[in-house]
Amino acid sequence: MSDSKELKFNTLTIHGGQNPDPSTGAIMPPIYQTSTYVQSAPGVHQGYEYSRSQNPTREALEKNIASIERGNYGLAFGSGLAAIDAIIKILKPGDEVISTNDLYGGTYRLFRTIFEPFGIKFHFTAMSETSRISELVNDRTRLIWVETPTNPMMNVIDIEAVSKIAKAHNSLLVVDNTFATPYLQQPLLLGADIVMHSATKYLGGHSDVVLGLVALKDKELADKLYYIQNSSGAICGPMDSFLILRGIKTLHVRMQRHCENGRLIAHFLKGHPKVDKVYWPGFEDHPDHSVARKQMKDFGGMISFTVKGGSYEDTAKVISSLNIFSLAESLGGVESLAGHPASMTHASIPKAEREKTGVVDSLIRLSVGIEDAEDLQNDLDQALQQI
Ligand SMILES: *Cc1c(COP(=O)(O)O)cnc(C)c1O
Repeated sequence: MSDSKELKFNTLTIHGGQNPDPSTGAIMPPIYQTSTYVQSAPGVHQGYEYSRSQNPTREALEKNIASIERGNYGLAFGSGLAAIDAIIKILKPGDEVISTNDLYGGTYRLFRTIFEPFGIKFHFTAMSETSRISELVNDRTRLIWVETPTNPMMNVIDIEAVSKIAKAHNSLLVVDNTFATPYLQQPLLLGADIVMHSATKYLGGHSDVVLGLVALKDKELADKLYYIQNSSGAICGPMDSFLILRGIKTLHVRMQRHCENGRLIAHFLKGHPKVDKVYWPGFEDHPDHSVARKQMKDFGGMISFTVKGGSYEDTAKVISSLNIFSLAESLGGVESLAGHPASMTHASIPKAEREKTGVVDSLIRLSVGIEDAEDLQNDLDQALQQI
């Protein structure tokens, strides 16, 4: 099933990159909980030497992400940030990166505080207008980093347009596809060189594992990343690989419901007297709606909104009054979560910088789960009535 380009997405999530176990017929790839593999003579083995380098369960997951992202190669890491760390290690001191400014806080921290001291320069800009990228490109630009939809402001960036700029300047385009998942958008088909995921979120889908994934088409680039994966060693274990494989099997069904519930909740919030702004790319008056329509299959289950009046106290009261939505970091699980970006996911971004992008104290981010939509709506309503 690994060679299955013509199969449709809903089949690939279940079968892509996976074959029944050759020794037993087990339909799920077994959890190969082993660090090493016996060799019949020095250097004579079955393709597996040591589990940092190769592991059959991880390999099944790597083939699966390659397949559902329409790439040729996949790599799995211990977390989304470990995947990002490996990608940036392709670069050398003096190289420059242009990145989305409205970015996952942990990615920003990694770029700014870990890689910048090693001599890699990062520029952050709003990419909804691609002309902003052209202004920053120079002959040291090696990589463009796009997160779309952005977190937590739900801006949508035109991947195809950015890929044209990247290609014209011999620069790699990387897309963090965590929010959209390959169910909604497939960046490699839109010109991206590398797509990455925090599989911790929608791909796993059950809030029970932390893991990162990368998929790409180009062999030379894949070899480089494999070299980094094996040399730096930020791999994931076989149990975690198994859990993500299991999660991906229902990705399309879960995403369909996340999108349905997201649509209902977005419209509900927009009409609510205690709500000021609602950020969701499915609204026709969302500034990036046409790009979202063009490159995404639907609009997802991530919504941000501001509480009317805007005080920190009122916002905290609304969040604390929720019963079904749990106050927690993370997103993309079957259960609905609410977060306060300013004090949680984006706390590592300086206040002035985050407020420039819209991450104000009254902003609440929802990861709409797949519970009953009416129950979710009632929960939000009673919490908003508290102020
Ligand atoms: C969570 C997240 C990450 C980081 O992934 P981890 O698995 O937590 O290391 C990166 N990008 C986005 C968009 C995320 O939501």
